[in-house]
Amino acid sequence: MTPLPDLLARAGANPEQLHWQSWTALAPGPALIVLGAVHGNEVCGAHAIARTIADLHAGRLQVARGRLTLVPVANPLAFRQATRGGERNLNRHFVPRADPRDYEDRVTARLAPLLAAHEVLLDLHSFHTAGEPFAMVGPRDNPGPREPFARAAEELALARALGAPQVVQGWLEVYDQAARARGELPGDDGIGTNEFMRSRGGYAVTLECGFHDDPRAIDVAAQAIRGALAHLGMAEVAPPPRQRAPVARLREVVLRESPGDVLARDWRSFDPVEAGTVIGVRADGRPVRVERAGCVLFPFPESQVDQEWFYLAEIDAAA
Ligand SMILES: [Zn+2]
Repeated sequence: MTPLPDLLARAGANPEQLHWQSWTALAPGPALIVLGAVHGNEVCGAHAIARTIADLHAGRLQVARGRLTLVPVANPLAFRQATRGGERNLNRHFVPRADPRDYEDRVTARLAPLLAAHEVLLDLHSFHTAGEPFAMVGPRDNPGPREPFARAAEELALARALGAPQVVQGWLEVYDQAARARGELPGDDGIGTNEFMRSRGGYAVTLECGFHDDPRAIDVAAQAIRGALAHLGMAEVAPPPRQRAPVARLREVVLRESPGDVLARDWRSFDPVEAGTVIGVRADGRPVRVERAGCVLFPFPESQVDQEWFYLAEIDAAA
């Protein structure tokens, strides 16, 4: 584990206090906010933001245009506990409530207006299995009603500027699909930080920087912050090498129905699959096949019953 810089040790010391720092250039430009540790056990973003703050204080990095806000630890309670959530997942129901019911509601009450005061969000995460980093963007441009959006091209351009070799598109649609599969009505539960940002006229990219405890994930996150600043014209920094990252469009989520459901092999995200490929086998022996060619995403062999087992995506050749 990478040792905690003082800034991060303090951030976890008092979960009743949020901390962020902003730099504003006199020259106009975009307003970018960067979040670390929305999930408390995903620390690469927090470390990368602490490093960026040190660079800014030392003058090694300067904001030339626009406004930059850095939130090293978005969920201090979860960060202190080294758990995904404090009392729950902050990245669900990220909608301010008039009557906050739990810790994450109270954090949302403070962070949501801060996000709404910016135009662009970069949200830094990590994942629980080995694999390559990837960026997540929202829906294609559409007039609604669930998630109307008109900034898909800007979002994809930012995602590609972060240096990630892969991009995943779409989330809320398949999240709603999973809710319906569980017999629930899709509601605000699928609204995370990114969906909230889009609902306020901005745009957002989540970068999954690598395996939780991989120290290289910190470098990926730090490089992404610089990539965003360079891409948005906010700082004179060398951007990461540009990649023509393929776009995998989420199409379907498959839930685990029983503890006896077993994946057919040790799938990795972005493994390509042909139509008819058996991804897993249900407890009663029924194979779960892919209808159309595409790729597997976010396989979770040990997921809870009624939770996401794996996702299927198609490669968007036009993107
Ligand atoms: Zn996360």
